[in-house]
Amino acid sequence: MTRPCDILIQAACIVTQDGLRTVVENGALAVADGMVLDVGPREAVAAAHAPARVLDLGDALVLPGLVNAHTHAAMTFLRGVADDLPLMEWLTQHIFPVEKHLTPDIVEAGALLGCAEMLRTGTTAFNDMYLIQDATYRAVDKAGMRCLGGEGIFGFPSPAYPDADAGLALVRQLHERWRHNPRIRQCVTPHAVYTTSPELLQRCQALAEELDLPLHIHLAETTTETAQCQQMFGQRPVPYCHGLGLLTPRATVAHAVDLTDDEIELLARTGAAVAHNPESNMKLASGAAPVVRMLQLGVPVGIGTDGAASNNSLNMFTEMTSCAMLHKLRCMDPTCAPAQAVLDMATRGGAAALHWPGLGQLAPGCPADLTALDLTAPNLQPMYNPVSHLVYAATGHEVRLTMVAGEVLYQDGRFTRFDYPVLVAQMRDVRRWVLDKLGR
Ligand SMILES: [Zn+2]
Repeated sequence: MTRPCDILIQAACIVTQDGLRTVVENGALAVADGMVLDVGPREAVAAAHAPARVLDLGDALVLPGLVNAHTHAAMTFLRGVADDLPLMEWLTQHIFPVEKHLTPDIVEAGALLGCAEMLRTGTTAFNDMYLIQDATYRAVDKAGMRCLGGEGIFGFPSPAYPDADAGLALVRQLHERWRHNPRIRQCVTPHAVYTTSPELLQRCQALAEELDLPLHIHLAETTTETAQCQQMFGQRPVPYCHGLGLLTPRATVAHAVDLTDDEIELLARTGAAVAHNPESNMKLASGAAPVVRMLQLGVPVGIGTDGAASNNSLNMFTEMTSCAMLHKLRCMDPTCAPAQAVLDMATRGGAAALHWPGLGQLAPGCPADLTALDLTAPNLQPMYNPVSHLVYAATGHEVRLTMVAGEVLYQDGRFTRFDYPVLVAQMRDVRRWVLDKLGR
């Protein structure tokens, strides 16, 4: 008795990231209606299913699509425009002056480039916060990725709205406009404690509760932010947000670098998730988030790249390597942040940070979001431990195929839903526009 399925994927190795962290050698995965129907040894899965199509990937390693827990996808257009500066100087003198002229076309082009880069390096879902978010959703819809996104809410005018009231109204409109798209989910995203008022943060929280949406905020990124928060509101960022009711299981806080031991315990008690951005935190010399302690206390932690202007890539494979290295160095202990824990953060932890159950694992009933690496690449030979290779040896450029909901979005150098050479030409025009706005 065989069950029909849409695709039967065959590969030399499948790292499922299921509850038991099952790794299948010589495996197969059956997909129906965009979901994983079955995964296991090739012969057993093949015998049980009648596929409409067989996708034999040969000497490939299949894993769940990586989940980028915090980014600003559209900021690819500012990649490398200014580097090697302190966060506040970088933001106020190089990023904000360009962003105040932003247009929907610039955001859409930058976000589509971000999607291309993520798909090319095995990421299938991301948590996004930016300006003119409607344009980012158009790019996400075009590329076919999954996105939890939010219009960045500030206590001052943004290119998308004249004041905070209009900003919150825009969140409602975006929610209405995109709620029926199965790959795009809405989030309420106050930018940070230093760009909002206590009243505005409370209004964001109330809106998240009313619409039953997650809330995503940059929090405790630097000691400068802590000093500013203490000066403006008399409290450190984490207790300040907790006092305003923002730290709940619907929250994801990005960075969480400058934390006291008590604040880590407070975060754990609230059920809030953390998006850890090791490369951005290193590049801006913000510090090393106490992730090992967070994991010990059961805080859900995902890994994010942050925007391409502070990383400078959206590559989750290199981010995993950096994450492992950073925490070994921070703890001066090579047993810290072992490969499996890091892969867990980049997959299942990302699902928690996106409040999107089922992502980050390949198990029956989960979305068929996956990526496949070429195991014949010199840097992946020989293979003793696939999880070790994913964290320490892969660069992301071994990716041969990336799929969301059973649909191939990238394969062997080609994006299936959009014309990449046209996008590259468009980015040349965007570059000229940026240089003009900076007066260079
Ligand atoms: Zn960020």
